[in-house]
Amino acid sequence: MSAQRLWIKNPRAVFTANSHDAAGGVVVEGAVIRELVPAGCEPTLSCDAVFDASERVLLPGLINTHHHFYQTLTRAWAPVVNVPLFPWLKQLYPVWARLDAEALALASKVAMAELLLSGCTTTTDHHYLFPQGMEEAIDVQVDVVGELGMRAVLTRGSMSLGEDDGGLPPRHTVQQGETILRDSERLIKRYHQRGEGAWMQIALAPCSPFSVTSEIMRDSAQLAQREDVRLHTHLAETLDEENFCLQRFGLRTVDYLESVGWLNERTWLAHGIHFDESEIQRLGRAGVGVCHCPVSNMRLASGMCPTVDLENAGVAIGLGVDGSASNDASNIMYEARQALYLQRLRYGAQAITPQRVLGWATQGSAKLIGRSDICEIAVGKQADLALFAQDELRFSGSHDPISALLLCGAERAEHVMIGGKWRVIDGNIVGLDVPELISRHRKAAKKLVADI
Ligand SMILES: [Zn+2]
Repeated sequence: MSAQRLWIKNPRAVFTANSHDAAGGVVVEGAVIRELVPAGCEPTLSCDAVFDASERVLLPGLINTHHHFYQTLTRAWAPVVNVPLFPWLKQLYPVWARLDAEALALASKVAMAELLLSGCTTTTDHHYLFPQGMEEAIDVQVDVVGELGMRAVLTRGSMSLGEDDGGLPPRHTVQQGETILRDSERLIKRYHQRGEGAWMQIALAPCSPFSVTSEIMRDSAQLAQREDVRLHTHLAETLDEENFCLQRFGLRTVDYLESVGWLNERTWLAHGIHFDESEIQRLGRAGVGVCHCPVSNMRLASGMCPTVDLENAGVAIGLGVDGSASNDASNIMYEARQALYLQRLRYGAQAITPQRVLGWATQGSAKLIGRSDICEIAVGKQADLALFAQDELRFSGSHDPISALLLCGAERAEHVMIGGKWRVIDGNIVGLDVPELISRHRKAAKKLVADI
């Protein structure tokens, strides 16, 4: 039996993330895009169903390449509203150490639901907290990803350098190197899918230079090479971090990265703000990718990622919502809008176009996670698509629909398809009771900060 063919017909506008013409829409067959229909044409293949997209803007599903789902439980927590990264972390570590499996599941579901409703079809998460009783934190997240039907790269984070040894996190939040590596290996073997159309992938993600030992950085790089999975970490986010690296290792951040075997095309970094010119060139030559997280960077006053300089040097730029305690939203369209405006302050209005920023959220992000099957509207690519209506007040009077997405502030997709399946219909996530989720998540969030 052949798969059903659906024509998503005559969208009001299309951003394909390439130079193809899909003005007449796309034909989806099974999990993939089978045909692009040029303006004014009909599909050459007969279709079983038609979806009228004439009042909607069609995009490839957006890809979020940096996040900490569990932090949705500590959004806008008063003690850390007005502090930069290091004191922000120091105050939050003891709260986060109380995390349990149920709270993590709820937090992950809230973060992913929010992402999905903003047009995100593939997300990563960087989870590095494994307090006692939470050894299977990633397994908990795998289940939630499956429930929502999203694609994900869950990164097995780690912290191994406690306060007593000169690191930032308290001792009870760190794990032994051997435990981390054993669990990383287990997760790769159990969950990591390879090849086109993969739904679940695992990457290795020691948290940051100030929370892991050099040994775990080195061992993770070797394990990633052996198992052919990707590497992720925070780097060059703040000057405090740079000073930490100079004091502890006698190295700047990129030198440190190189010293532990991470300066290669397997690696993508979150933030990537404080680089000098020669470091930018080295990152480009090495094929390292950088995830730009504008809201988090503004929220913590960390600095501004030199996106265009990095791109000119050959570094792929992706987009990440980061957070959720440093954003505090999980909305990829909102993030794209902020990226547009923040980067214009540095590079000017002509260099930073809505198309360039949407390119970061699709093609760029996909490069970071080593994917080429999910980032554009083209024949043979996965049918991961987002459709935005523009009938709200905020769009009234707007002209160019693609620009309007960012300039008027689109925040919510009307329909989202992942691998050929509708996951959001008329603004609602299929099969998810959102009010019930919010009520349970709120309770868990209150419990987490009680008596702190
Ligand atoms: Zn982060």
